Amino acid sequence: MGRQRGAGIGGGNDEREQTLNQLLTEMDGFEGNTGIIIIAATNRPDVLDSALLRPGRFDRQVTVDAPDIKGRLEVLQVHARNKKLAPEVSLEAIARRTPGFTGADLANLLNEAAILTARRRKDAITMLEIDDAVDRVVAGMEGTPLVDSKSKRLIAYHEIGHAIVGTLLQAHDPVQKVTLIPRGQAQGLTWFTPSEEQGLISRAQIMARISGALGGRAAEQVIFGDAEVTTGAGGDLQQVSNMARQMVTRFGMSDLGPLSLESQQGEVFLGRDWMTRSDYSEEIAARIDAQVRTIVEHCYDVACKLIRDNRVVIDRLVDLLIEKETIDGEEFRQIVAEYTPVPEKEQYVPKL
Ligand code: ZN
Repeated sequence: MGRQRGAGIGGGNDEREQTLNQLLTEMDGFEGNTGIIIIAATNRPDVLDSALLRPGRFDRQVTVDAPDIKGRLEVLQVHARNKKLAPEVSLEAIARRTPGFTGADLANLLNEAAILTARRRKDAITMLEIDDAVDRVVAGMEGTPLVDSKSKRLIAYHEIGHAIVGTLLQAHDPVQKVTLIPRGQAQGLTWFTPSEEQGLISRAQIMARISGALGGRAAEQVIFGDAEVTTGAGGDLQQVSNMARQMVTRFGMSDLGPLSLESQQGEVFLGRDWMTRSDYSEEIAARIDAQVRTIVEHCYDVACKLIRDNRVVIDRLVDLLIEKETIDGEEFRQIVAEYTPVPEKEQYVPKL
């Protein structure tokens, strides 16, 4: 009901707008409506009518964001009440593993774990089911592993490419595990431990993420050659373009200087963004494209160099990955450290 008035064609005569007009009048009219408190909720604050947001209308605004670690622990405690957990299951450990999860994700996580437990004919949920449920909530259903073949080797090199670039770049989040067990759309997956601090991300971190995301394609190309690269990197490349573009147009992290060239992208809302218009000339558009290209090419070179310089350990890791299907982060780092120094990553560990 609180949507921006005058949106679309047809003017301000529809019933919804009349109701909103009336509500606004009641909310700060001359008559005191003592004892009446108005509470409202929305998941589209971007389309609210600006009159609703003026001082004196809604005095308190509470933003409900994804919970922090304390919040997650408390949400988990609520949803764990009616489930049987093995004594070694620590809700605190689950809260630590799940930055970015919403309340609904956490509820879903415990439900999935309970279903897995029943299917495995166990009496109580153990950490094993929790771990599997986290993977499932994040990446989808587990598929059947491929048989050893050329394409399995290629996928292994692709994933190890992500993992090795992520491990050797200091600013990248550490590898949590690499796996060849397919999940959802992905044939293999490299998991990184996300950092709890979600506020500010530095230029070095974004560059490292771009290089890491290009690590898969870089490995395919360096090892199998131009003709053998696959469509497997499609998703990676999309992420890469997004990150690089945002560096240039939103965060002022390129040679174009500290300019914000694009407003925060949201869905086009009829009435407010009636026509999509860009805030810059065609000349600037061409320069943006050139900058995006420069960033991506630079990061791709970084990734290719890391792959070429570490070919020996990559071959060993690929053999191990094909044999074991999953390598966890600790083991991965130990093996890499036998060949080349692995930079220490400082990760912020929140206190509970
Ligand atoms: Zn990939």
